[in-house]
Amino acid sequence: LSADKLTKDTVANIKDENKKLNAWITVADDAKPAENLDFSKNKLAGIPIGIKDNITTKGVKTTAASHMLYNYVPVFDATVISKLKKAQATFVGKTNMDEFAMGSSTEHSYYGPTHNPWNLDKVPGGSSGGSAAAVASGQVVAALGSDTGGSIRQPAAFNGIFGIKPTYGRVSRWGLIAFSSSLDQIGVLTKRAKDSAEILNVIAGSDDRDSTVSEKEVPDFTSFIGQGVKGLRIGVPKEYMSDAVDEKVRAAVQKQIDFLKANGAIINKVSLPLTKYVVPTYYIIASSEASSNLQRYDGIRYGYRAKDTKSLVDVYVKSRSEGFGPEVKRRIMLGSFALSAGSYDKFFKQAAKVRTLICNEFDKIFADNDIIVGPTTTTPAFDIGSEISDPIKMYNNDILTISANLAGIPAASVPAGLADGMPVGFQIMAKRFDEGNIFRVADFIERNN
Ligand code: GLN
Repeated sequence: LSADKLTKDTVANIKDENKKLNAWITVADDAKPAENLDFSKNKLAGIPIGIKDNITTKGVKTTAASHMLYNYVPVFDATVISKLKKAQATFVGKTNMDEFAMGSSTEHSYYGPTHNPWNLDKVPGGSSGGSAAAVASGQVVAALGSDTGGSIRQPAAFNGIFGIKPTYGRVSRWGLIAFSSSLDQIGVLTKRAKDSAEILNVIAGSDDRDSTVSEKEVPDFTSFIGQGVKGLRIGVPKEYMSDAVDEKVRAAVQKQIDFLKANGAIINKVSLPLTKYVVPTYYIIASSEASSNLQRYDGIRYGYRAKDTKSLVDVYVKSRSEGFGPEVKRRIMLGSFALSAGSYDKFFKQAAKVRTLICNEFDKIFADNDIIVGPTTTTPAFDIGSEISDPIKMYNNDILTISANLAGIPAASVPAGLADGMPVGFQIMAKRFDEGNIFRVADFIERNN
């Protein structure tokens, strides 16, 4: 099989599958592998990879699934894209998502919802639902996603694949369309943990263009694979295995915990009592940062501009009213309120304080545990349309994934069997910059499922 043929077949298959799943916003008709592929040096040489549509790609439309950016063609590549190009990966298109990455179901896309390949009536999760569905259905072996409060791990769980959100500061966010800058992180979705390790090897590392990226040396993430779990100290928070989590999801997760224990891991019962505050804390911080980040969409410089406007203010108001979808507007209003003079102390400042307490809570547990595990989500994938009109219910879905973003720690979801015929995700969280232990455990679980 030549790289040319692989690329052609991949694009043809994507187009075909898109009629059913709608996992892509832009398909690269003219996709071509890099020239002079060096298979001995580049593990990703000629491998087709999908890119979430909030990661800027030079010369290729990047919409963040928003009407606001329907015609935006960036003049530069995100750092992760430059790195993938250097590693000779093949670019085949941009995946569907919730508008500006705000959502948990990929229903909030201007380009229509993505369907879950396991059952077309179900959501694929979100906001990286297009990336997850594309990988789960075998259209590409890997896709990039972004995770602000669970947007890689939750869709990975709903689609029965692996997905990792690295440590905050592990991967450059330069060229990632900002949602919540203190929480956003680019990561990878693949069927197998080892493939994500290969891609993280390429995209991780310091970047002069993003001062929040750590200068820390990037280890070879594949080197952690195959070490076994003997002696590994694993914390299981009781809040993650409570009645609030679907019984069948809990049973599937417990099976993996028992399996790790049977192979020599030390299982410790721990508690994260602040879990009950993470949803409001996150939605205040994320919406506040979003309201600030999204100010740049004014209809003047690029993107959508309303017609028949009478004044400058009219351009702003009409362009933003017509360009943003309802969920994005909700976040902007929520964030503007939380940051306003009368509410700042009560909401934003308070949330920032709780965030610090949540970080401390994790640090305490990590003093005696190498990793923390539990379910990724409280239920398997839900029906399309079933939660879209109930934002609070939708937000509460994120209770198990949000903490890792607030604490800046790496976290992943690995498949853990089925509940009612739909995949269940097993979440693994580790200390800052300890993605290695995540790959070690995820691969161990995969080999035995
Ligand atoms: N579902 C969460 C939200 O809507 C997380 C989204 C994300 O991680 N990008 O904000």
